Amino acid sequence: IGANLARVAAAHPDRDALVECATGRRWTYREFDAAVCDLARALLAAEVAPGDRVGVWAPNCAEWVLVQYATARVGAILVNLNPAYREHEIGFTLKQSGACLLFTATQVKTSDYVAMVDAVRPACPDLRDVVYFGTPGWTAFLERGAEVPAEDLAAREAGLSPDDPIDIQYTSGTTGFPKGATLSHRNVLGNGHQVAEVQGWTHEDRVCLPVPLYHCFGMVMGNLGATSHGACVVLPGALFDPADTLRAVAEERCTVLYGVPTMFIAELALLERSDTAYDLSSLRTGVMAGSPCPVEVMKRVIDKMGMADVTIAYGMTETSPVSTQTRRDDSLERRVATVGRVHPHVEIKVVDPESGETVPTGTPGELCTRGYSVMLGYWNEPERTAEPVDADGWMHTGDLAQMDSDGYVSIVGRIKDMVIRGGENVYPREVEEFLHKHPDIEDVQVIGVPDEKYGEELMAWIRLRPGAAALDPEAVREFCQGRLAHYKIPRYVHLVDGFPMTVTGKVRKVEMREQAVEILT
Ligand code: ATP
Ligand code: MG
Repeated sequence: IGANLARVAAAHPDRDALVECATGRRWTYREFDAAVCDLARALLAAEVAPGDRVGVWAPNCAEWVLVQYATARVGAILVNLNPAYREHEIGFTLKQSGACLLFTATQVKTSDYVAMVDAVRPACPDLRDVVYFGTPGWTAFLERGAEVPAEDLAAREAGLSPDDPIDIQYTSGTTGFPKGATLSHRNVLGNGHQVAEVQGWTHEDRVCLPVPLYHCFGMVMGNLGATSHGACVVLPGALFDPADTLRAVAEERCTVLYGVPTMFIAELALLERSDTAYDLSSLRTGVMAGSPCPVEVMKRVIDKMGMADVTIAYGMTETSPVSTQTRRDDSLERRVATVGRVHPHVEIKVVDPESGETVPTGTPGELCTRGYSVMLGYWNEPERTAEPVDADGWMHTGDLAQMDSDGYVSIVGRIKDMVIRGGENVYPREVEEFLHKHPDIEDVQVIGVPDEKYGEELMAWIRLRPGAAALDPEAVREFCQGRLAHYKIPRYVHLVDGFPMTVTGKVRKVEMREQAVEILT
């Protein structure tokens, strides 16, 4: 990662590398590379050894990006922590990873990070030092690096290998407690580079990242995709806000925009309703990913946001993350309704989850990935690693997918979310896609709830478009009558203002199911 950045910076020294919209700070590639080296030397001064874990716990900011590259340059392992974590999770992950140093913020919104760090510190014996961004402590930490000769950094980098671990990336925790996927330079730089290649990026591109940096969507597909191509990273704000994002695109003339589906839904809603006009004419492409991407939303992103070449990517933290992606030359139909074909240099297959045999074309089964992008393992949990990665190196994703005869993959849903109603398999995704066609429905999630007669029944949680009259459950069922098989029609309809979410913007269906049981009893 260090060598790649140095090469790109030498090729494009005067182009923008990083822009932080909240403060107006910006770095050219020459300045960015120099700032990364200064911080890397400060890490050497702080006696950070190869393989040492260094935590970063903060919402999106420029310092976050510097820490990502500086730790990679000295061969340390970055432990990127979710800014939504609180005392319990931060204590667990700092201890589990054995981090010796933590970079963090003093306060985020109303959360006092200093108090939380102080509370967990006694239980983290490995944690030698905590550095708060933007404080005198941060400046002092950086200053110590000035005493370290540049040759020391060069010597350290010469000893690193592409297969060294450099990142412990905790999964989103959508289905349970997060797992610490351990990733190498090859894993993440390889994937970031390929994600950008598939979209055809060059050093002219400007990439707007409202997605969290702490997750691979931001730090791999965003940061590493951009710096491996000499493109510019634009950070619209610390935490997602649709107006900040659209303003950043307009003012920084961004060509690329990333987001999970819920972010695009919020941006479209703002475009349709606000009095402010945003000039999005610079936008060309981007990635929607992370959870099922509704066809209707994709179509509106193309029509209303002008993202003619927008792609959908599918992946998971354990595969660095992307395994399939749509391409610019795919048909419109495939670009809105599939997750594309296999990514360069990896393999995929669809198997029967019980027998492990590859299923015939068009049959749903568990998607498996193999190649350079599969993680080294779960940090310090060899038994857990052995669960999803088999002896032949295939990562079993836990996602149900089907592949057509041209190799295009559709994600049917998570195995754990499939509903079995009266012996019939129902994939919530299909029902959600159908309900998205209803003009009053802005967003919808479907889950299975326990039922004495049928084993499970379907329940739709619906967020209405502002101004739409309340929908009664009967009207929703009528809308489905004759257009969906009877067993796929939701028995229960629940109107909501939002869904329980992870900070990466994924809907926590586990929590919805728990709440649903309470609502129904
Ligand atoms: P955890 O493993 O902790 O429960 P998680 O699986 O949500 O959380 P991530 O690694 O961030 O953590 O997310 C990967 C998952 O996101 C995939 O396994 C898949 O279920 C879902 N996903 C990612 N991209 C897409 C997509 N384009 N369409 C549908 N689902 C997607
Ligand atoms: Mg997962």
